[in-house]
Amino acid sequence: MIKYKLICKDCEFCFDSWFASSQEFEKLKKKRFLNCHKCNSKKIQKTLMAPKLMNSFSLKKTDTDIIRYKEFNKKIKEYQNFIKKNFDYVGKNFAYEARSIHYDNKKKTKGIYGIASKDEIKELKEEGIEASTIPWVEDKKN
Ligand SMILES: [Zn+2]
Repeated sequence: MIKYKLICKDCEFCFDSWFASSQEFEKLKKKRFLNCHKCNSKKIQKTLMAPKLMNSFSLKKTDTDIIRYKEFNKKIKEYQNFIKKNFDYVGKNFAYEARSIHYDNKKKTKGIYGIASKDEIKELKEEGIEASTIPWVEDKKN
């Protein structure tokens, strides 16, 4: 665990926050999960103070940023479970299957989901085929 002193660019409010690692801080910042505890601004910066290192046993469970990150993951998991139950997985054949449903009017009671590249999604959209992308959390094996 790393403790960072963060500062809000908008109101200059200073506060401490805990992160699993410096990479996690960058990740949360990128996803805009960091916000000022006082004015809710997203313009949060690390102060230049050296981070204090701690071992993972002293993880502060009340840390709002970590909880929010976990909730975000939980939401995605719930969404994934819904998709797994109600959609057919077609793996990398997603673009092919989506086209065959669209053009051959294949009767399918279920929607499909699978893996497609950004280019494939773009092409499908240009052809008027509806496809949306969602963030996907890999199932951990343990
Ligand atoms: Zn602020």
